[in-house]
Amino acid sequence: MTSEFEIIEHYFKKKMKQTALGVGDDAAIINVQKDHQLVISSDMLIENIHFLKNTNPSRLGWKSLAVNLSDIAAMGGKPKWATLSISLPKINHVWLKKFSGGFFKCANQFGIDLIGGDTTRGPLSISITIMGEIKKNQGLLRSGAKINDDIWVTGQLGLASMGLASLQRKLKLASRLKTKCINALEVPTPKVSLGSHLSRYTNSCIDISDGLIQDLNHILKASKVGAALMLNDIPCEKFIHTSKQYQFVLNGGDDYELLFTAPKKNRSYIKTIAKKTNTAVNIIGTITHKKDLKILNEQGKSVTFNLRGFDHFA
Ligand code: ADP
Ligand code: MG
Repeated sequence: MTSEFEIIEHYFKKKMKQTALGVGDDAAIINVQKDHQLVISSDMLIENIHFLKNTNPSRLGWKSLAVNLSDIAAMGGKPKWATLSISLPKINHVWLKKFSGGFFKCANQFGIDLIGGDTTRGPLSISITIMGEIKKNQGLLRSGAKINDDIWVTGQLGLASMGLASLQRKLKLASRLKTKCINALEVPTPKVSLGSHLSRYTNSCIDISDGLIQDLNHILKASKVGAALMLNDIPCEKFIHTSKQYQFVLNGGDDYELLFTAPKKNRSYIKTIAKKTNTAVNIIGTITHKKDLKILNEQGKSVTFNLRGFDHFA
């Protein structure tokens, strides 16, 4: 097996369940449900920038799709279709088998059809476009946060960046915590089910990919509001509190948790959906009218950190 076409046929052409025309023609054709809108997002993963050289290919296949699913979840959509454009330095069947295995494990778990893409030779890079559906005008935007909204977050923050730091030998962790953190980094779980149920109860949403503070700031800017965060309410490992290494929680990348704001009266609805979808959620602060972001300690005193979220060109 030596050609681009054989690679596509063997590794990337799988049965499709919700697609009018998939892999094999010049383009794919999909049917969108009546009274719905298409929601679309792309993410690139480049070796040595988004993942370390020699990352387990199966985990990389999973993560490539998972980070894209997270964006659709953050819009309140139901992801359905993906395209995969991949450039490979050479044909490596062991690698391709594992990568496609991890990709389709994630695709099957979340009900995604791979409907097309492109395969070329070049430095290892993966670009995925994900498409999903939302009910007409029900998209969850960054711009909808209202004063006095609760600020909610799913899961636990900081694990993935602790995992990366430990792989880079910049952080020493006990072995069980290290495994948990590396799993969070390499096999993130996108909060698709919760996301697709949130839109009726929440005012704004984003997924945390570049650090809590940076991504919350995107909501604040788009919504023209401020926020007060309770440092001690941010769900994280005990290690963070004992070591005071809050940068992982406030600034660490690759969390792929959802950050959303909602009126206080919706607390019990949100807790019910979270329980139904088996997702941990916590309130970590409030939206304020003052157009700044305050982080408060247990005594309610404002604390400052010298932090910047990830920016490729900073
Ligand atoms: P074209 O020459 O029209 O660009 P290609 O030969 O690149 O077509 O691709 C043939 C078919 O295989 C198309 O349907 C394309 O979407 C699909 N395809 C190519 N690469 C991938 C991939 N990595 N994953 C899924 N589908 C792919
Ligand atoms: Mg092509």
